[in-house]
Amino acid sequence: MERTFIAVKPDGVQRGLCGEIIKRFEQRGFRLVAAKFLQASEDHMKKHYLDLKDKPFYNGLCKYMSTGPILAMVWEGQNIVKLGRVMLGETNPADSKPGSIRGDLCIDIGRNIIHGSDTLENAKAEIDLWFKAEELVSYTPCAQPWLYE
Ligand code: UDP
Ligand code: MG
Repeated sequence: MERTFIAVKPDGVQRGLCGEIIKRFEQRGFRLVAAKFLQASEDHMKKHYLDLKDKPFYNGLCKYMSTGPILAMVWEGQNIVKLGRVMLGETNPADSKPGSIRGDLCIDIGRNIIHGSDTLENAKAEIDLWFKAEELVSYTPCAQPWLYE
């Protein structure tokens, strides 16, 4: 089983899309293992997006991510890092297929409503940055044998 870090960004929260996004991960069969609703500091966002520090949009991105609440979550499931990225769609909503979260629910690359880890290594680092170990809950959903062979 893998874990990934998924966050509804401030624009997704303001637009009332938290429920829709949670619904898609739940219905796929993934398991929620942690969630918190918070307003992150610009400093925290600078750590989160450190690998983008040389990009021209880095400062604006970190500022916007700290202007409102975020729904930060950890989801678990087989191959979830890759499958989560497929569910998100492309970074630019204009390139995202209908059926994906970004392809269905947003328009602009700078307001693309959701974050998802892109590699297992980054997922681990992001989960560590956003959550303490004791905030992650382990349990076995009753649907487990109906989801996995
Ligand atoms: N972003 C942006 N302009 C760009 C590229 C990215 O504003 O030209 C923002 C966008 O919100 C994106 C985030 O920076 O989600 C992080 O970029 P990354 O390339 O990691 O895309 P993601 O992993 O979110 O698909
Ligand atoms: Mg990324």
